[in-house]
Amino acid sequence: MAGDTIFHKIIRREIPADVVYEDDEVIAFRDIAPQAPVHVLFVPKVDIPTLDALQPSQAEIVGKLALAAAAYARREGFAERGYRVVVNCNGDGGQTVYQLHMHLLAGAPLGHFGVP
Ligand code: AMP
Repeated sequence: MAGDTIFHKIIRREIPADVVYEDDEVIAFRDIAPQAPVHVLFVPKVDIPTLDALQPSQAEIVGKLALAAAAYARREGFAERGYRVVVNCNGDGGQTVYQLHMHLLAGAPLGHFGVP
């Protein structure tokens, strides 16, 4: 079945997740293996396996993920201190779940980033 990742199962509420935000197009839940004090994943409900697979007609959903993440940061009170959003794409990008998602990391100084 196309698009049958663990995130699709979370979207369909077949497996549990710590959901912090949901609307008709986006779901957000805490990462099961957090890499920062705050680590939330913003996931479109429409089936998009990777950023590389994003079609021009689907561009708006990436903005909606970003707006949902920014609104969450303001709501939780860490927007001014700052945060990082990350989209991993394919193998070298570190993607492990093939449904597009935006990581929101926050809650501590994150430093710069680079090759580990
Ligand atoms: P990526 O490596 O960019 O594809 O990110 C996938 C993320 O999904 C990783 O940070 C995982 O820790 C996270 N993850 C995997 N399974 C679950 C789950 N059941 N609930 C929440 N987060 C998960």
